[in-house]
Amino acid sequence: MGLVLIPRRVELGLLVVGLVTAALMPTLPHVPLCFYHALTGHDCPGCGTTRAVFAILHGRFAAAAAFNLLGYLVLVVVFRRMVTLARPETATSWFNSRLADKVLLGAMISIAVIQYAYKLLR
Ligand SMILES: [Zn+2]
Repeated sequence: MGLVLIPRRVELGLLVVGLVTAALMPTLPHVPLCFYHALTGHDCPGCGTTRAVFAILHGRFAAAAAFNLLGYLVLVVVFRRMVTLARPETATSWFNSRLADKVLLGAMISIAVIQYAYKLLR
């Protein structure tokens, strides 16, 4: 099996439609409970990320931060991908460099760990 590539304009269109649809939906549809949460009763590092993204798209920034700070980084990653798809010349810039990848990944891991520890200890 080879790699299946989606034309970049199709991928960009899907991302735009997905974000606009989520922004226009009045409420978040039922999302199944996290397996970790169901098993332990505690939030996993990713719990609340979907609600956070939804809250950000509806302008409820403080609520988003309370749900999960990773929601902000998810939108940064999506925005970065959209810019790369819209402007392919950015694919070779600092914007898409290995360093930028590492900074984003490091920020995600750091936030997930700190937030998880904070939720466990409070
Ligand atoms: Zn979870």
